[in-house]
Amino acid sequence: MRMNPIQAYIAEIERLKNELFEARVTILNLMPEKIARILSSYYEVKSTREGHNWEHEVAELIISEAKLLSKEDGSYWQDRAYCPLCGRGSNSPYDRGFAIPEGLRRHLTGWGNATRCEVMEATFRLARNHWYRSFHEKEEQVKNENQLLLAEKKKTETVYLIDLYAEPCLMDEGIYSWDGPTRGEEELVWAEKRLDGLGVMTSIEGNVKKYIDETDNYLLLADPRVNGKITFKVYLKPLAKKGKGRGRSLHYQSFYIQDKWKNDLPAKYAARVKECIENLMH
Ligand SMILES: [Zn+2]
Repeated sequence: MRMNPIQAYIAEIERLKNELFEARVTILNLMPEKIARILSSYYEVKSTREGHNWEHEVAELIISEAKLLSKEDGSYWQDRAYCPLCGRGSNSPYDRGFAIPEGLRRHLTGWGNATRCEVMEATFRLARNHWYRSFHEKEEQVKNENQLLLAEKKKTETVYLIDLYAEPCLMDEGIYSWDGPTRGEEELVWAEKRLDGLGVMTSIEGNVKKYIDETDNYLLLADPRVNGKITFKVYLKPLAKKGKGRGRSLHYQSFYIQDKWKNDLPAKYAARVKECIENLMH
């Protein structure tokens, strides 16, 4: 059966893709056995995230396989070696090989404008294609499921309006491990009392909680979720309409008050708010 032009085109692209795949595999197979084994280990990677780590790890393994040049041969000032994959060295006419480890690392990972290692490039392409075929669909599915779960949770659990122009979020949403743990029930009550002392009111509508201080000039929202400090966002009035212009919505200034601070808090708070307003006016 004759193919129509588009079918023929697609078939041609498929054929070229396969040839490219084979060419890349050939490049790997031309490497010495130990190196080929290191490079082909992308097959053992179990997720896209693991893949990112693998790319760094494999570069380190290759660096450890580099044969250092002797002092007379180029390692006079620093350890240097040619790339164990492609045999290349630095472009500089005065240097042999790459500085170990940073120069070779840059060559392998293509960091900066270093000449990229073509063998490594072929390996990364093979690896990424393999991971995409193996994980992408499944990972997208899990992501969608998690998003549905999150949406469901947000309907029932208490959510906090901490940004005037974003959806209210859960107690631990968007909080990273380096921010510290979130507050437990008692710690939250403590923070709400502290906020009350500063003139920041707790308000609840349905399952949405917000901590708000509003005057004719500004609106302030507090975020006490992280145990250890309370963060504040100050918006200048007149407020931008929700959903209008992303640029405007970013127009806030923020500051925080640590839990361990004890002296003159209302004065400190007032001074910070004033500072924010002044910054927003300029
Ligand atoms: Zn190379």
